[in-house]
Amino acid sequence: MRLIILGAPGAGKGTQAERIAARRQIPAISTGDIFRKNIAEETELGQRVKSILSSGGYVPDEVTIEIVRDRLAESDTANGFLLDGFPRTPGQVEALDEMLSDQDTSLDAVLELTVDTDEVVQRLLQRAQDQGREDDTEEVIRERMNIYVEETAPLSRMYRHRGLLVEVDGMGEVDEVTERVQTALDNLEDDDA
Ligand code: AMP
Repeated sequence: MRLIILGAPGAGKGTQAERIAARRQIPAISTGDIFRKNIAEETELGQRVKSILSSGGYVPDEVTIEIVRDRLAESDTANGFLLDGFPRTPGQVEALDEMLSDQDTSLDAVLELTVDTDEVVQRLLQRAQDQGREDDTEEVIRERMNIYVEETAPLSRMYRHRGLLVEVDGMGEVDEVTERVQTALDNLEDDDA
């Protein structure tokens, strides 16, 4: 399956993405993880994006798109993939459309985890504490939430128009959410059969 997972920062995307990927044996590709790894390893890319991540802004489309293009060219994506954190802008949506049509493939679904904003802010503050993630200060979290609402929420509307959006309630226990997600994806596969 070729999937995108969408949801406000802290909606539990990363955890659910790993579980979906494991169950369907496809790679979970997180642009945020790729950037953080590069920052940790002090690569050239890491040095370029470090201040952007700590300010909560977006890495420029041309940089992000190139990274995803390279990643999707790797052989482990042949049977599918799950994108987490990409696309986030209309330019990235368009670039992904082109990459997929060049490969004569298309997306199967765009999964959106829906959550209550107050709970999301609490989850993020907790995670920042637990993981010592210095990029997750309260100010950065608020900035990211604002950016999400302004720029990313329209993407889910667009995928809904395309008939690809699958909304799953992201509230409650992580395992419950996983169960809902897996059921929704199983139903999609059954519909296709
Ligand atoms: P995430 O872990 O997905 O919340 O991403 C962490 C940070 O990485 C974001 O706040 C952005 O600075 C950057 N980032 C991740 N994915 C993208 C993307 N698709 N476009 C632009 N910036 C991104």
